[in-house]
Amino acid sequence: MLIKPRKKSHLLRTLEILNSRMDLAEDERLYYLSLAKGYQGEKLNDLWVERLHEEILVLHDLLFEIRNTQFQIDTLIITQERLYLLDVKNNEGDYIYKNDGFYTLSGNETKNHLHQLRRCESLLRQLLQTLGYNLPIEAYLIFNNPEFYLYNVPPELPIIFPTQLKRFYQNVNKQPSKLSEKHKVLANKLVTKVIGDSRYSQPPTYDYYKLLKGNACCSCHSLLTIVVKKKVICTDCGHSEKLEDAVLRGVEEYKLLFPERKVTTMAIYEWCGGIVSNKVIRTILHKNYKLIGLGRFSYFI
Ligand SMILES: [Zn+2]
Repeated sequence: MLIKPRKKSHLLRTLEILNSRMDLAEDERLYYLSLAKGYQGEKLNDLWVERLHEEILVLHDLLFEIRNTQFQIDTLIITQERLYLLDVKNNEGDYIYKNDGFYTLSGNETKNHLHQLRRCESLLRQLLQTLGYNLPIEAYLIFNNPEFYLYNVPPELPIIFPTQLKRFYQNVNKQPSKLSEKHKVLANKLVTKVIGDSRYSQPPTYDYYKLLKGNACCSCHSLLTIVVKKKVICTDCGHSEKLEDAVLRGVEEYKLLFPERKVTTMAIYEWCGGIVSNKVIRTILHKNYKLIGLGRFSYFI
């Protein structure tokens, strides 16, 4: 049973919008791409998790803080006897495992996912103790990109490779799972402990007047879109979206980037790059938001 779904983080959503509307610095762009790739990998893994039976509780995307230390869990699965902590990696390419770390074939040491996993497991254990729980935790690194390979890996390491995913989840599904009230209370307590975005995740600075305007494509984020009948068509990837949905997405993007600016017909007309008429935008805003005030000082919430 899904208790907490996955949502794109505020930072990822912000970077996604900014990437098509300004030139991100190279390091920001690479960071954005790694976040987007990570999210894509997590969504892919969610497809497996979705197939677990109903008596298993699933929580995605948890950011906690304990004793001033933040830690993030991609997926937490609660069964009758244990918790499964999953750290999902979308790495591709060849790596070698040595000295308890991950190296590229050319010998460069890379991020140590195992250390990160152990740290996360230990912090989760501490959090559970503060909540009065003492369930065993099994923590795994899930590599779900079929283009990934790790040489020299001892079989006892808690790593699941793409070819093992099916058996791994079949195994989880076979665990006895008669959940009691205390499991559900735990799941809900954990949800209340989730904090907002990480204090380390600061988007780059941006300026309304310097951003490109347009109704971004919901598939490839290109701004090269046109309106044909009641649809917004992307001239880059050919994706087509209902006009109203596209405008509402534009409004949400505008609100996300500029929470201090008021949503008005004129503002959204400008934000969408003038491809949708004022009249249509006004109709859509009236239908979906509440109008505050009158005349030229009115705005929508
Ligand atoms: Zn597109």
